[in-house]
Amino acid sequence: MSDPSRKRSHRDVPRAEVPQQVDWLLSPVEWLVTCDEAFRVWAPGAVAVRGDTIVAVGSRDAVEGSFRGRRRKDLSGCIVCPGLVNTHVHGAMSVFRGIADDLPLQRWLKEIIFPIEAAHVNADLVYLGTLLSTVEMILGGTTTFCDGYFFEGTAAVAVRDSGIRAVLGQGILGFPTPDQPDPSKAMDRATAFLKSFPSGNHRLRPSLFCHAPYTCSPETLLWVKGICREHGCLFQTHLSETRSEVEDLTRKYGRRPVIFLDDLGILDAGTLCAHAVWVDEEEIARLAERRVAVSHNPQSNMKLGAGAAPVPRMLEAGLTVGLGTDGCASNNDLDLFGEMAAAARLHKVVTGNPVACSAQQVLRMATRMGARALGWDSDIGSIEAGKKADLIAVDCRSPHLTPLYDPVSHLVYAARSSDVSLVWVGGDLVVEDGKIRTVDEEKLRREVAALARRISRSLTFR
Ligand SMILES: [Zn+2]
Repeated sequence: MSDPSRKRSHRDVPRAEVPQQVDWLLSPVEWLVTCDEAFRVWAPGAVAVRGDTIVAVGSRDAVEGSFRGRRRKDLSGCIVCPGLVNTHVHGAMSVFRGIADDLPLQRWLKEIIFPIEAAHVNADLVYLGTLLSTVEMILGGTTTFCDGYFFEGTAAVAVRDSGIRAVLGQGILGFPTPDQPDPSKAMDRATAFLKSFPSGNHRLRPSLFCHAPYTCSPETLLWVKGICREHGCLFQTHLSETRSEVEDLTRKYGRRPVIFLDDLGILDAGTLCAHAVWVDEEEIARLAERRVAVSHNPQSNMKLGAGAAPVPRMLEAGLTVGLGTDGCASNNDLDLFGEMAAAARLHKVVTGNPVACSAQQVLRMATRMGARALGWDSDIGSIEAGKKADLIAVDCRSPHLTPLYDPVSHLVYAARSSDVSLVWVGGDLVVEDGKIRTVDEEKLRREVAALARRISRSLTFR
């Protein structure tokens, strides 16, 4: 078994004299994988939710003895776990899914992606693409994602419409972008984004995203980090994704990228670096010392031939490592179940060690460590009383999930995103019977297809 504490007999929820009324009582849950610090699994378990918050978690008997639900779900045959956290996404890029594959990163970026973005990316595309991504993610059990793109104020509208939770990073580059043709005005764009960010929605947090140390000058990196510190928001960047980028940067600045960023004063607990594939031992130690979080994107790294980040070494060094999909144009989906399966297998291949990146470590990365990477772990990432009710139910009544000895093994090695049948975000039921309740999926597909026809007609590289 994955955890000896499963089926604990003692009651963790004190029985109330009179059962308290709650909004949701999920009971019985056949396998309740809490992803709490002790990684407790209750079988059978139960969860009580009031408003947007979990008020009790524990054995079925203990929770049922103390709570009555206005609404109730019997989750026999299901695993319930925290909603997954995708720590690296470019949401709007889902409209470019499959537009150009099988190319090295720099050619893919410079010859395909940057020109297409310059021609087509506007607020309407960002709304549609982000909405499409949020629907794909919610249906696949992701309840929080961390975005980095352009027109992020518009992305916030799509996020609000879908009901997902998100950190939205306004993208900043050292050359003209679709939402800022004049790079010298990027600072105005960034501060305007933060000032106008919707304040009343607790599911949304703003962030700034410097594309990479090779597309942003040291001055840009510095002022962006300064604004992030001033506003208490997350600073994001791509870091050391490919070997050639690291060699170029090391030649240019005389130091490897992590040391270069640290010398600038960029690295601290409010910095999230995507990829970190080509980092050496000194850089891993420096990232750990500065409490920088890393987003590990195994499938994107595999597809672009970038390599495999030294994740087992990062975990040994105590780094916070979340999982990410990257944008749809380099993956080509936003499926964290696929990403978990890839991460758990990839590092066994790379290290030749079948113990590397266990199922439990990988599920931690997709939940509580991902939440910590975003600085949001006081609210999300595990099923615990006091945290937000971001919950997913995986229906295990299918041949590929039969029999079930260990729910953590199934979540990482056998389950698919299409097995997700129910999703709650902040206590709101957003997916029921595998169908999204917040967005007209058919209408959205028609609108994206029409946009894709316009993009397709303009392509010159085919
Ligand atoms: Zn990326």
